[in-house]
Amino acid sequence: STGDIKILLLENVNKTAIDIFSQQGYQVEFYKTSLSEEELIEKIGEVHAIGIRSKTRLTEKILKHARNLVVIGCFCIGTNQVDLEYAAKSGIAVFNSPFSNSRSVAELVIAEVITLSRQLGDRSLEMHTGTWNKVSAKCWEIRGKTLGIIGYGHIGAQLSVLAESMGMNVIYYDIHMIMALGNSKQVETLDELLQKADFVTCHVPETPETRNLLAAPQFSAMKDGAYVINASRGTVVDIEALVSAMKSGKIAGAALDVYPNEPSKNGEGLFNDSLNGWASELCSMRNVILTPHIGGSTEEAQSAIGVEVGTFLAKYINEGNSTGAVNFPEVQLRSLNYDQENSVRVLYIHQNVPGVLKTVNNILSNHNIEKQFSDSRGDVAYLMADISDVDLSDIKSLYEQLEQTPFKIATRLLY
Ligand code: NAD
Repeated sequence: STGDIKILLLENVNKTAIDIFSQQGYQVEFYKTSLSEEELIEKIGEVHAIGIRSKTRLTEKILKHARNLVVIGCFCIGTNQVDLEYAAKSGIAVFNSPFSNSRSVAELVIAEVITLSRQLGDRSLEMHTGTWNKVSAKCWEIRGKTLGIIGYGHIGAQLSVLAESMGMNVIYYDIHMIMALGNSKQVETLDELLQKADFVTCHVPETPETRNLLAAPQFSAMKDGAYVINASRGTVVDIEALVSAMKSGKIAGAALDVYPNEPSKNGEGLFNDSLNGWASELCSMRNVILTPHIGGSTEEAQSAIGVEVGTFLAKYINEGNSTGAVNFPEVQLRSLNYDQENSVRVLYIHQNVPGVLKTVNNILSNHNIEKQFSDSRGDVAYLMADISDVDLSDIKSLYEQLEQTPFKIATRLLY
């Protein structure tokens, strides 16, 4: 029953998530901070689910002590704090929240478009240091200007709508053909986008293909006086080449939220140590907006993360639905009807080797298999089946038979 489910929440995960778990009747243990390795090892043995953010490292050493753990929720974007492969092999699904902050990033980029075209950063800095410098030369309205979006995914597409509503023309380049929103237009090549756009903004993932996507040849291909914005990943823009293009006057301004090497804590200097060689030169440039990876950092994004990851966890615990998992085969069946008597949902995680399903279906064959779905990812496979005509007295033996199959990783029966 859901009242037996124990969930450990660390690092002050958002209240929206706690509300979801309390509504489900789970037993919630909540900490504002992370726990030491020893404390984690002790606590992880007891719980069915754990919710963390970026500071808690769930290594193989810690996960080895997780006897009942079925799911990990990363209430953040990144998941490299968790040993994903070891978790999958142990039958533990891991979820995160990659898209809850898309709107926040899109809004920041809109702000940057205006900030750059009106040189607001420079004017503000001058006022703060006592200088009144009223200028209109090379300050522009954004109305009628062309925004070129590279990567028309969750963020790029939202940005497109916001930019058009302020009178901009929007073009975008993506490796996939994607339906245009509003009056925006997809262009065929990156070069075409670079030649036409007044503002070029990057919204692509970090991949080998997007490394230095904007470098010296791309800056030369841009319009004279174009602006560059990067709030995607630090590897996407070659900052040294950007600095050169700004010095030559080719590029009129840039806004960067992400960097090749980012400090891991607040208070650490990005620019006054050897982390990034080009740093002080970049800081000395005019019309450059630098922000510390805050594109997605809003209160709204935090509560959306709580809702999204909280819902993933509850659906996985209550129904076995693994859609959205980052390390696990994605398997889903229509909602389980708990009220229907004599029906049981079988969740069976196993090694991805030949012959397993034959053995399992043999065990299930005395009952009526209403629906079944199975998928694999790497070495791990996951079968979900709804079976009916099961007496309560059969359930224990069904569970034991499934547990005894070779190649089994984990079994859960929901009824
Ligand atoms: P998404 O996966 O929804 O969209 C990415 C788009 O880029 C997809 O449409 C994809 O087809 C396209 N793409 C992939 N490779 C490409 C290439 N080589 N050339 C052109 N297009 C390519 O991702 P999203 O949620 O929109 O996020 C975009 C980026 O923003 C990611 O790098 C993400 O990590 C980053 N991000 C940053 C912040 C921040 O705080 N600054 C917050 C959230 C996301």
